[in-house]
Amino acid sequence: MAVAKTYHLVTLGCPKNEVDSEHFERLLVGHLQPAADPESADAIIVNTCGFIEASQRESLEVIRTLAAKKRPGQRLIVAGCLTQIAGDRVRAEAPGVDHVFGVGQWVQVARLLEVDAEAVYDIPDTPARLRGPSAYLKVADGCDAPCTFCVIPRIKGRFRSLPLGALVREAQRLVEAGAREIVLVAQDTTAWGEDFGFAPGKGLPGLLRALSEAVGEDVWLRIMYAYPSRVTPELVQAMAELPNVVKYLDVPLQHGSPAVLRRMRRPHNLEKTFAMVRMLREAMPDIALRTSLIVGFPGETDEEFAELEQFVRAIEFDHVGVFTYSRQPHTPAHDLPDQVPERVKVMRRERLMRIQRRIAARRARTFIGRELDLLVEGSGEDEDGRPVVAGRTYREAPEVDGLVIAYGRAEAGERVRVRIEAAGDYDLFGRLAEESAS
Ligand code: SF4
Repeated sequence: MAVAKTYHLVTLGCPKNEVDSEHFERLLVGHLQPAADPESADAIIVNTCGFIEASQRESLEVIRTLAAKKRPGQRLIVAGCLTQIAGDRVRAEAPGVDHVFGVGQWVQVARLLEVDAEAVYDIPDTPARLRGPSAYLKVADGCDAPCTFCVIPRIKGRFRSLPLGALVREAQRLVEAGAREIVLVAQDTTAWGEDFGFAPGKGLPGLLRALSEAVGEDVWLRIMYAYPSRVTPELVQAMAELPNVVKYLDVPLQHGSPAVLRRMRRPHNLEKTFAMVRMLREAMPDIALRTSLIVGFPGETDEEFAELEQFVRAIEFDHVGVFTYSRQPHTPAHDLPDQVPERVKVMRRERLMRIQRRIAARRARTFIGRELDLLVEGSGEDEDGRPVVAGRTYREAPEVDGLVIAYGRAEAGERVRVRIEAAGDYDLFGRLAEESAS
């Protein structure tokens, strides 16, 4: 087969996959050119997602479509989470696939394309490519937690932190490439450093301080995917003290019933969870809290679901992602009795979302009349030709939370002041501060 000169990369799944894809693409810089569409590429590479059945189906569908349209001489390479756990299924269901790799095999993929690549995490000295003004920084990979519903530890293996020096250099490169916000991700960001000997939850505060200094005060740092029992006083103090760490925390809690949490093998002492939330809000009164919850876990009774509702009402999160339980092969929960019927899961999800929508809107309304920093993601005009920008304040993480839409003129990547004038269920509306003054 001829040496590939161009490639097209399709990335499916979560931000952590996007980071892997970005690192992989940086291995190819100077060797292969990116092609805008799969048709014109010599090699098509798919970074798959295997998190839940729906994402596995989506990945397979994409692979099958690409395989069906493949030209003679074109290579189709699939890698990532789905192929890690179900490589044989991919081969059987998409016979046009030429090469199958698992997770953490991007160097091998690069070598297959005749790129002399070193380890992906020896981050190469090439400019980072950004999507918008934000960039993800993956601080670790893998997971040692025992959550009974989750297949990630099987896919990704044991928890491994990236070294502090490499992360600082990568963050600086992202800033040089134009990033105005760096979003820290991992399966569990708060476990960073435990494999280097830090006590649980004690490594991340030091990493935050190092990154905060390295990127400068104009660049936001945001923490996603915190594990509740690792939100330590040291972490809260670092978040409160460091001006460029946004006062926002994503802590997936998964449920609010101790019995369900026990079956999930998640932290189930709700008093500790409430104490964590109190500690965060006392140190940072305006902190925006995001969580993810699973409804319809095996055996979830009406009473346990009512406890979850009560939990959501009591904490008043700013943002909540609600997922219906998805039965994963190779996980302990797969074989638990009393699986909840799909329609009950969907009804519970709708119900919880309705409750949360009211809470989120109420919390958002408290910002009306206030001025906030806005990181502009894009600009345009409304139907009357008036200039409008869309962006995010510290309260909204990229891709998962809402936006702030404001009248005024600014370029993508600029940080401007916005005065909030109205709040919807998910988005805020306002005008740029200079506009309101004029
Ligand atoms: S902490 Fe997250 S990634 Fe790790 S097992 Fe639990 S749900 Fe899965």
